[in-house]
Amino acid sequence: MHYADRVTRVEPSATLAISALASELEAEGADVVDLSVGEPDFPTPENVVEAGKAAMDAGHTGYTTSNGIQKLREAIAAKLRADGLDHGPENVIVTPGAKQSLYEVTQTLVDEGDEVVLLDPAWVSYEAMVKLAGGSLVRVDLSPYDFRLEPALTDLENVISDSTDLLIVNSPSNPTGAVYSDAALEGVRDLAVDHDVTVVADEIYGEITYDTDPTSLGSLDGMADRTITVNGFSKAYSMTGWRLGYFAGPEDLIDQAGKLHSHSVSCATNFVQHAGVEALEHTDDAVDQMVDAFEDRRDLLLDLFADAGVDVPTPDGAFYMMLPVESPDTEWCEGALEDAHVATVPGSAFGAPGYARLSYAASEERLREGVERLVDAGYL
Ligand code: PLP
Repeated sequence: MHYADRVTRVEPSATLAISALASELEAEGADVVDLSVGEPDFPTPENVVEAGKAAMDAGHTGYTTSNGIQKLREAIAAKLRADGLDHGPENVIVTPGAKQSLYEVTQTLVDEGDEVVLLDPAWVSYEAMVKLAGGSLVRVDLSPYDFRLEPALTDLENVISDSTDLLIVNSPSNPTGAVYSDAALEGVRDLAVDHDVTVVADEIYGEITYDTDPTSLGSLDGMADRTITVNGFSKAYSMTGWRLGYFAGPEDLIDQAGKLHSHSVSCATNFVQHAGVEALEHTDDAVDQMVDAFEDRRDLLLDLFADAGVDVPTPDGAFYMMLPVESPDTEWCEGALEDAHVATVPGSAFGAPGYARLSYAASEERLREGVERLVDAGYL
C-alpha cells in the first residue's frame, strides 16, 4: 500500500515506548506508580455528568450546527470576555477536544513550507500537526532559563522574521508547568506585530494556576486580529474522555476553518456540548478544589525533591514538573520504570533532553511512594 508523505513524515509518539513498558509491567502484576499521565485523577464534577445525562434523556442526540450549539458558544464567548477577549458566539468553533481544534487551526493556517515557531519544551503533538500540514519548524529552547519565556525573548527575536508565519504559545505549559509573565507575553506581542505573525494561544491549562492569574495572549493590544485562542474541558473540568474543546478567533478564520470542521467531524457530540455549558457555568467550587489539590501536591513534590537534594524549577500551573535527570533521559526513564516501577516521560519527547516530565495528577500517597522508590533505587 502507498502511504501519503504527510503521514509517513510524522514520528509515532516518543511517549509510547514508556506507556507500553508500563502496561507490560502492570500485566505482569507490578505496582507501577504512574507519574506519566496527562489527565486529572478526579472524576468529572457530578453536576456536569447529570447535565450530560439529562441532555441525552431530553433527546439531544442528533447532529448540532457544525460550529456548536448556540448556548455553548455563548457560554464560551462569556468566558473569553471575562479573560479580556472581545469574542461573540460567531467567533467560536466547538470541537471534539482541544486537540482537534489545534489540528483544524494548523490545517487552516499552515501551508507547505510555511515557517512555524515553537517554544521548547513543547507538547508533543504540535510538531506532528505542523508536519502534517507541511510546515517547517523553528524552535526556541527555554530550558537554559528554567523554562521561563522572558529571558528567552532575545532568542525568540533572533528567529522571528517576516518569513515567520505562525507562533504557538502554550501557557501554562505542558510539559513544564511554566506560566509566562505579562512582560514575556508583551514581548511576544511586539514581535508578532512587528513581523505580522499569527499566534496560536493554547490556554488549555489556563484554569489551573497557583500563584498567578495568567493573561490571555489575545487580550493584549494589537493581538485580537492575529490570535487564535484554543481551550478545552479536559483539564479544568476533568473531562478528558468527553472530548470537548474549542477555538476562537477573527470571523474570517472561523469561516475558513469552519469548512474543514464541517467536512471532517461535522460537529462535537450533542449531549456533551450541553454538559459543557454546565461545566462553564456551575463548577467554580469543583475547579477550585482540584486546583488546591494540585497546588498541595506540587508543594509536596518540591519538598520531597529538595529533601533528596534535587533542585526542580517551580511550576506555576498545569500539573507537570520537569525533573533534571542523568542523560540520556530516555534511559533514565526506562530504568526508573524497570527498577523502581515509577513511570515518567523522557524530556526529549518534548525537546528537552536531560529532564523527565512528571505529572502530579496522582494522590499524595502515590507521589511520596514514587519519590521514595526513585531515591531507594538510586535514581535521585
Ligand atoms: N494542548 C495541550 C498543551 C495538552 O496538553 C493537551 C492534552 O494533553 C491538549 C492540548 C489536548 O487536550 P484535549 O484534546 O483532551 O482537549
